[in-house]
Amino acid sequence: MSVSGFARKSIAALFLVSLSACGTTYVIPETGDGVSQQAAQMFSAAQAEPPRKASSLTTAEARFHRVVRRVQPVAEAFCRKEFAEGREIDCNVALELDRKRQDRNAYFTYRQPGNKSPVIRFTLPLLQDVRSDDEVAFVLGHEYGHLIGQHIQKQQQQAVAGALILGAISAYANASAASYGGYYDSNAVSRNVELGAQLGNAAFSQTYELESDMLGTRIAHAAGYDPVKGAQFFARSEDVKGEGGKLSFWGTHPADSKRVSVVIATMDEIKRKQGLVKKQK
Ligand SMILES: [Zn+2]
Repeated sequence: MSVSGFARKSIAALFLVSLSACGTTYVIPETGDGVSQQAAQMFSAAQAEPPRKASSLTTAEARFHRVVRRVQPVAEAFCRKEFAEGREIDCNVALELDRKRQDRNAYFTYRQPGNKSPVIRFTLPLLQDVRSDDEVAFVLGHEYGHLIGQHIQKQQQQAVAGALILGAISAYANASAASYGGYYDSNAVSRNVELGAQLGNAAFSQTYELESDMLGTRIAHAAGYDPVKGAQFFARSEDVKGEGGKLSFWGTHPADSKRVSVVIATMDEIKRKQGLVKKQK
């Protein structure tokens, strides 16, 4: 095989690796016209909502613990069922308050390298901003969705694949240029590796959010909460997000009526007794 043939084959193979790593695990429900209209109405109502008065710290903490007691066992059982066969995954997620951060936020992460010790944290300002237990339950279910969808692992794989693709393309382009007596830019490879890593991370994050919304809907509902009511917390305007600025929950979870559509469509599936559907590999 010629060098250029090999390079082309390698690039094609890397694209395949990248594509297989980036999809969602589950089918996200279709949203028809009826659902989209209903979502658009709810979305504009939420967007028009004025800033909320912060509840007391005591109320906020009590609400967190009350919701955790109900959601945690349901979410863990949900996770164990999904990973019953196949890959080892730690469904035992620590649920904590982040008492340091002053922005309104909730996030899923791993405490230890190698994606070990999963943890979900809520900041106090977020808990003071919520209006009902349904909202906390939905946000919590959504964060469990990032674990069950294996989104951090997939983004890591995409970052690596994206970096390799662009690195391979520029190495190939440079090698061709050099073989014709052209200028060889060794920095192009490393610059493109970094750019590729960024592209890999950004490209599919919106799909993961929708998958987490879908999983969060199922978890919150199974724990006895109303996910449609809870999702309105997400749908509020950027203007009312307060002093948290870009670091807030809305920085990584932009308000979007599509998200409300997915929640409503998932509730329709639950009412029809349709379970989760895994995508065909
Ligand atoms: Zn999210």
